[in-house]
Amino acid sequence: MQYPWHKPLWQQFLKVWQQQRLPHAILMTGAKGLAKTDLALAIAQYSLCLKPTELTACGQCHSCQLFSAGAHPDHLLIEPEEAGKTIKIDQIRALKDKQSLTPNISAWKTVVIHPAHKMTTSASNSLLKLLEEPPAQTLLILVSSQPQQLPVTIRSRCQLWPMQSPENNVTENWLKQQGTDISTSQLAILHPLAKGAPLMLQQLQENGVNVLSEQLQQDLQLLMQGKANPVQMTASWQPYDLLTVMHILFYEVKNQLTLQPNAAEAGMLWQIIDCIQSTIKLVSSSNNYNKTLITEDFMVAVMRISRSGQIEKAPLSRVSL
Ligand SMILES: [Zn+2]
Repeated sequence: MQYPWHKPLWQQFLKVWQQQRLPHAILMTGAKGLAKTDLALAIAQYSLCLKPTELTACGQCHSCQLFSAGAHPDHLLIEPEEAGKTIKIDQIRALKDKQSLTPNISAWKTVVIHPAHKMTTSASNSLLKLLEEPPAQTLLILVSSQPQQLPVTIRSRCQLWPMQSPENNVTENWLKQQGTDISTSQLAILHPLAKGAPLMLQQLQENGVNVLSEQLQQDLQLLMQGKANPVQMTASWQPYDLLTVMHILFYEVKNQLTLQPNAAEAGMLWQIIDCIQSTIKLVSSSNNYNKTLITEDFMVAVMRISRSGQIEKAPLSRVSL
């Protein structure tokens, strides 16, 4: 098994398969970066395989070969046509047309929808009709890292299969096996950002969290010196997840506090930490926020705190009042 944290759900699948209690629809949830879709596809391949063993699909039969080639007539993977975009009603309609045909090669038909929360409202409504009258011998797997964004009517018709993020030591070992060089202290910083998902951790580590972190350190200095242009800086932060940015800044400011600044500086840093924490709270509590506005507000607040700190040189006791 490529990903050790898939084991519990894979065993759960084998159990219901052997007992012939496979549900019509599964909603597989868990943090982004657990390779949930890979497991959903492995389940689909097993269900379609003509000669499955007790533990895995055979990988050799006609069905497995077609599946590996992405050309199995009884299987459908529905994803947004472009990364980050929605899943449209036409895609769900195409699924329903396909469902009305009988299986070609295998005894089952399988559908994987990923990320399911990207379905438009009309696509969800269309899928709901299929869930209300599920066709026989059909397995539908919805994969989502944000299931709360799915309509309750859809969620209630699926069996929930939550995938847990692995323990720290499992993640650390797995990353080492993949050749990702990560120190225990880096892991401690990145772990909450990635919600413990190893592939997300790997991505953060390899694709720029270090670069991002350097840029943010410089930006923070500019903000604190009052030399930043919040509009331009907000644009440069735009590609990044705001929560990730705030968590990195949080660690950066905390680091500065360990350098034993004087009382005025320390007071200023604590106020910036307050700002970061309220921004994190704001962003975490809503799916629908104005990122540009929140980012600019944050920058202006940091500049204001730094400016008042520099002018007044206020001692810590005064600032904390
Ligand atoms: Zn096979």
